[in-house]
Amino acid sequence: MSELSFGEARGRVDALREQLAAWSDAYYQQDTQLVPDAEYDAAMAELQALERMHPELESQDSPTQRVGGEVSEMFAPVVHGERMLSLDNVFSLEELREWLAKTETAVGREVDWLTELKIDGLAINLRYERGRLVRAATRGDGRTGEDVTQNAIRVAGIPTQLQGSGHPDAFEVRGEVFIPVAEFEALNALQADLRERVIAERGALDLATATTRAERRFPPFANPRNAASGGLRQQLDKKTGLEHEAGLARLNSLRLYVHGIGDWADPPVAAQSEVYELLAGWDLPTSPHVEVRRGTESVLEFIEEYRERRASIEHEIDGIVVKVDNLADHAELGTTSRAPRWAIAYKYPPEEVHTKLLDIRVGV
Ligand code: NAD
Repeated sequence: MSELSFGEARGRVDALREQLAAWSDAYYQQDTQLVPDAEYDAAMAELQALERMHPELESQDSPTQRVGGEVSEMFAPVVHGERMLSLDNVFSLEELREWLAKTETAVGREVDWLTELKIDGLAINLRYERGRLVRAATRGDGRTGEDVTQNAIRVAGIPTQLQGSGHPDAFEVRGEVFIPVAEFEALNALQADLRERVIAERGALDLATATTRAERRFPPFANPRNAASGGLRQQLDKKTGLEHEAGLARLNSLRLYVHGIGDWADPPVAAQSEVYELLAGWDLPTSPHVEVRRGTESVLEFIEEYRERRASIEHEIDGIVVKVDNLADHAELGTTSRAPRWAIAYKYPPEEVHTKLLDIRVGV
């Protein structure tokens, strides 16, 4: 790559941007994926390296500077009170060590690290007013998301009315909507069952045609992440018959873990771990796999523990998220155009990721 002329680098940058845009469109808009995440991540890393090498090729429109994808016209737009960002990634423990050291230097003291699993689902922003859920939105392009309130209120685990006391008049929490592995298997079994029912009732249609049609109507889901995204971003009220049954099952399979806050003036606690305690007391589901750790070695131990255990976690993960726990430090460290400087995602090597890709070209 270092031997590319400027003209060749520009050509490669254009090609990578076009390729990433097409993959992102499939991923964020159609809830499907054309390539494994590792291939997407490798193309993104190559683009980042080329832009670093040739700063004249940098652009605000580059996928390296942007969050997520376009906002679908199927849903009303919701402008986020506070932008929903992505996360910067590291792919090796060495890079993680460097990031931890750099961040402690920037903070100017030893930091409490909030270590969490990176849940493979889709981000949601929930707005509560006087304890009632008033709006649920996807991340969209980070500034504007999609209004999915009608679906969110039917998701078990997203409280429409908070319990406990002391809720702010208005506040926003963020979390990940996902399908647990066991639910995902049940969902695919239902899809298979629906295919069989359609074929059994084919009437005068020949078997091959009926099978093709059944597979188109009820394809196997490729992975829990895309099935979750399509489940939350569906128009259930427009569905009838078996499609309605399948859509409802998909919605019922969704779960939530909260992992952050959005527009919330002055939370009454000092650390994100304390925010989670507060939210759990109000009935918002928090992950059982969250710990506060001090020191680089302790963070690395967390990563190794979950490297061993990841196949037995109730949901799929594609890595670990490490966050600075103290909220005042978040404000101090700030954000880049696409990610907070106070958090990082460590991604496990692709072959180690707990995933059940059946066939990434099939299913939604
Ligand atoms: P990301 O998924 O790597 O990280 C950001 C997201 O992580 C946040 O928005 C949040 O929703 C989520 N998250 C999960 N657990 C979290 C936790 N505990 N704390 C905080 N956040 C948590 O970044 P992205 O911008 O959403 O998407 C980029 C990634 O998506 C790529 O790295 C790739 O893996 C995948 N992708 C794949 C394709 C493809 O074609 N295969 C296309 C586009 C994106």
